[in-house]
Amino acid sequence: MFRLTALALLACATPLVAQEVNVYSHRQPELIQPLIDAFTAETGIAVNIAFVDKGMAERLVAEGDRSPADLVLTVDISRLLQIVDAGVTQPVQSEVLEANIPAAFRDDADQWFGLTTRARIVYASVDRVKDGEVTTYEDLADPKWQGRICTRSGTNDYNVALTAAVIAHHGEAGAKAWLEGLKANLARKPDGGDRDQVKAIAAGECDIAIGNTYYIGQMLNDPEQKPAAESVRIVFPTFEGDGTHLNISGVAMTKAAPNRDNALKFMEWLSGDTAQKIYAETNYEYPVKPGVARSALVASWGEFTPDSKSLSELAGLRGAALKLIEEVDFDG
Ligand code: FE
Repeated sequence: MFRLTALALLACATPLVAQEVNVYSHRQPELIQPLIDAFTAETGIAVNIAFVDKGMAERLVAEGDRSPADLVLTVDISRLLQIVDAGVTQPVQSEVLEANIPAAFRDDADQWFGLTTRARIVYASVDRVKDGEVTTYEDLADPKWQGRICTRSGTNDYNVALTAAVIAHHGEAGAKAWLEGLKANLARKPDGGDRDQVKAIAAGECDIAIGNTYYIGQMLNDPEQKPAAESVRIVFPTFEGDGTHLNISGVAMTKAAPNRDNALKFMEWLSGDTAQKIYAETNYEYPVKPGVARSALVASWGEFTPDSKSLSELAGLRGAALKLIEEVDFDG
């Protein structure tokens, strides 16, 4: 009897706190799940994920110190900076993160960390666009493309970041002229996502489109979308005299972070070999960790030179870019 009681007491005294980490994610469930499964299998730490489509910063501000979230996973440097600027993140000092992530893809103040990169490139019709016919972003505003270009909304984060890069290279007046030229070349009003532009090329509505690299990988892997993806070729345009526009997906730790130790473990794990390989193979993104191979498909698209303008500079130009996009009524 005594022994049973003692055991029962011992069991009560043993902390039964579940090992877990809570993530607010702006990224698609099907992309994140393989990462979560692998992390939990390796560490025993459960990852609870809430998909937050809109208002990430507002939600974290409203929740304040009581937020259950430990980490935010999102795409685009501007979204990362929105939550940093809202004051809901905390800096993370980690030798593992510093070793795995090149300095260009993480914050000087340790508030955000890039996990993958993606290039914003040109999808070109295999049938109607010759090799070498489009080589620069500047070229997209050339009247030779009149009625031949498709793109998603100008106010989409990806296009805002690209426009910010145009400002970084050519100033606001130059970027405005570029937006006007590009708008004049559109085959139709901006509509849909990047995949829809590929489908529009396949349907003969336009000859070139602006989009992110990984969508082509995803489409080639989907029997229904494969034919559309096969109707285009990937072109890595550059800014004149510079390189191809890159953006990141990344992670930040919240200020509240109730499970800080597990959150740090998950961040470090996401920057490590296993996760970086999953990102490369399942979503066709570029791993940030040097030495991790890109998928065979992505490697087959060839090499490119990343643009030299820093992500922080581009994020700082986001407001100006959005203003110009609205001024030229890009979607109108
Ligand atoms: Fe995307």
